[in-house]
Amino acid sequence: HLDAALLRVDGLHVSYGAIRALHGVSLEVRPGEIVALIGANGAGKSTTLRAISGMIAPSSGSIRLRSEEVTGRKAHELVPKGLAHAPEGRGIFLNLTVTENLRMGAFLRRDPSGIEADLERSFALFPRLRERRAQVAGTLSGGEQQMLAIARALMSRPGLLLLDEPSLGLAPRIVEQIFDILRGVNADGVAMLLVEQNAAKALQLANRAYVLETGRIVMEGGGSDLLASPDVRRAYLGG
Ligand code: ATP
Repeated sequence: HLDAALLRVDGLHVSYGAIRALHGVSLEVRPGEIVALIGANGAGKSTTLRAISGMIAPSSGSIRLRSEEVTGRKAHELVPKGLAHAPEGRGIFLNLTVTENLRMGAFLRRDPSGIEADLERSFALFPRLRERRAQVAGTLSGGEQQMLAIARALMSRPGLLLLDEPSLGLAPRIVEQIFDILRGVNADGVAMLLVEQNAAKALQLANRAYVLETGRIVMEGGGSDLLASPDVRRAYLGG
């Protein structure tokens, strides 16, 4: 039968040497959805994203993109299949300019005119990046670096964007701006799996969400349902 999910993760186990980080994580992202993954420090949120995007290999479990089994594939094999990852710590090249970083995001593409059009689209989406396009990324503010990480991920024209802590270390006003832009990108058809320490913001944005605790999914539901859940409020929203 045809699987309607864009991404389906089943029984994912990941270890770092002797440290077992994920104990059978299962989740899915459907076309057009924003799905949040929330949980405490060290719960395994970043590990889940790293395994999905092929940065680390799971010890067991399966990952499927549009029904295609991709478990164990490397990141560069998954980008052409429509998967992009804006990683924790942003992963931008600090000594390259804004424009150079954006071009790196398109390095697997072979359509020069499409790339130029998407550079323009990045600058329309993030006017700050246009102003600073010749500036070296290391001299950008934290918020601008985060915008660059997202814009760079979008340069591969993904159908599914994995976002790790886009709000980390940023002032509330900047977080608001970034979340507004993510809403717009999603409205253009890009599905997202969003990892956030800021559970309230993530649940407001997400259609659905999963709660991860020490490497296991312990709850799932609609974003607004989890936002209203007493258990979630107590554990992740400060009561
Ligand atoms: P945070 O928000 O703090 O990044 P997280 O939910 O993203 O938390 P992970 O970073 O995925 O959690 O970490 C899950 C577990 O795996 C933790 O126990 C962590 O200490 C461990 N871990 C993560 N990365 C490594 C690594 N490179 N080597 C060894 N252990 C790691």
